[in-house]
Amino acid sequence: LVCHSVLLYNYKMMSNNNNQQLADLLFPGGCTADWYETLYAPRMLPPGAAVTRLGPSPTGFIHLGNLFMAYVNKKLAAQSDGVFLLRVEDTDQKREVEGAAESLITALAYFGIRAEEGVCFEAAGGGIGEQGTYGPYFQSERGDIYHSFAKKLVSEGKAYPCFLTEEELGLIRAEQERGKLPTGIYGAYAKYRGAGADEVKRRIEAGERYVLRLYADRVYSGLPIADPGTIRVRDGIRGELALPRNVMDVVLLKTDGLPTYHFAHTVDDHLMRTTHVVRGEEWLSSLPIHIALFEALGFAPPIYCHTALLMKMDGGTKRKLSKRKDPELALSYYIAEGYHPAAIEEYLLTIINSNYEEWREAHPDAKPSDFVMTTEKMGVSGILFDLDKLQNISKDVLAHIPAQELAGFLTEWAGREKPEALPVLTREWDTLVRALDVGRGGDKPRKDLSYAKQIFDFISYFFDEFFRREDPMPENVPAEDVRAILTDYLASYDHADARDVWFEKIRGIAEAHGYAAKPKDYKKEPERYKGHVGDVSTVIRVALVGRANSPDICEIQQILGEARVRARIGAADFKGL
Ligand code: GLU
Repeated sequence: LVCHSVLLYNYKMMSNNNNQQLADLLFPGGCTADWYETLYAPRMLPPGAAVTRLGPSPTGFIHLGNLFMAYVNKKLAAQSDGVFLLRVEDTDQKREVEGAAESLITALAYFGIRAEEGVCFEAAGGGIGEQGTYGPYFQSERGDIYHSFAKKLVSEGKAYPCFLTEEELGLIRAEQERGKLPTGIYGAYAKYRGAGADEVKRRIEAGERYVLRLYADRVYSGLPIADPGTIRVRDGIRGELALPRNVMDVVLLKTDGLPTYHFAHTVDDHLMRTTHVVRGEEWLSSLPIHIALFEALGFAPPIYCHTALLMKMDGGTKRKLSKRKDPELALSYYIAEGYHPAAIEEYLLTIINSNYEEWREAHPDAKPSDFVMTTEKMGVSGILFDLDKLQNISKDVLAHIPAQELAGFLTEWAGREKPEALPVLTREWDTLVRALDVGRGGDKPRKDLSYAKQIFDFISYFFDEFFRREDPMPENVPAEDVRAILTDYLASYDHADARDVWFEKIRGIAEAHGYAAKPKDYKKEPERYKGHVGDVSTVIRVALVGRANSPDICEIQQILGEARVRARIGAADFKGL
């Protein structure tokens, strides 16, 4: 340790002057890194509290990955009395899309996700704003902060301006590729590592553009590293990782002075006091750079949690969800189809933590917020996203939502996605609530309502404006029988009939027209009948609701009301059905 300190001291003495001159030349004035360090003091939170963040780039495409990350981050913070914040990573101006941050916040709000700190909608006016004392939360507004830490690095000899032109970089790359060497700026390729303040000044005055690069070899305690060796990092999801130490002089500030992801991430997550960085596995390969940067800046790194990619089954193979091929990748899909946020939450938890389904079985009535998620139980390779499974889970979740509440949800959806249905649903609110409630009581409640669009299609026949004849009459019932059955049905119809009386009448009609009153009689002697009572019910069902399948007719009739039942049975012209 003593020897190490002596070396460090000598090194500092030699280069201190030039480094400080360079730092002052590149970043005249401005607050110091120490000042920011004090300004953004460590948070006063209970021990173990997680500070998490979502760092979306405002590219305009808001997808399942964003939502998945948002849930994980929100949950980690919520279950530990921590903080979940939203930071907009808008330093890549080429990719930025106007209004993308608003769309993201709106989409997340649909799924019940609001960050308690960071970029948000302003309470008044609804415009976009920020809340919290660790901001600004738009990276594009944090220029001075990045520059102060860049200055600190330059003054310590750990970063330097590099004037390599695009052309020179291209030549270096070609040479490295030819020699099968790692590509990038390092070792002898790092031509501007030693440039003195005078040279730099001259170049800047001549209008040469430069980037700021990390002086990789000086990072690890100021000693050059001949053999980069391995670093060990404990990933929250993947456990112990052994990675090659970074040797590249990566870019920290681009020619426009804006930070790269690497630099902004390090500075921001340190100053915002992030404890857990949950991000996609595509960042795993740059982890050594980030570890080097934390080391260079003298910060303790956060706990990294690299999530696996979201995949789907396509034929027999698992593949990455694709923006081009899979509409279900976009969050707008779930909003337009009207998936209930509670269903999405329930499903996401099943793919977030491998033990969630087991927990759910043991606690069928618990709130998802009672489940304690752990990063260790997150998948390390290809998380399978299965739309069918989401729809099934959704049916379970919706079966527990009271019909009144579901009616409100459906009406909201219609207001957004099917405006022509809104006045009908509002006018027929009672019908709507009762239609949603069909067969939901009892021990075995029906589970066929999945998402708003499907629910609307499922119950649309209750409303005259949306009633269509979708299915034909049963094939074994000729047109004249259809007419005769319906005529008899209408004549004998009494809206006050109890269900058994009502069904006896149908049996009677069946027998009168040569159909067995009981399916088992038909099965015994099929040659004696044209069909059985089920076919007769289907005729009535198709006339009433336009479909061969529906919940209990008797219950449906009570909801439709006598007038509508008589009108539909009476108006039925079944030629061609
Ligand atoms: N802006 C980065 C992205 O959208 C964020 C990654 C991270 O969470 O650190 O991929």
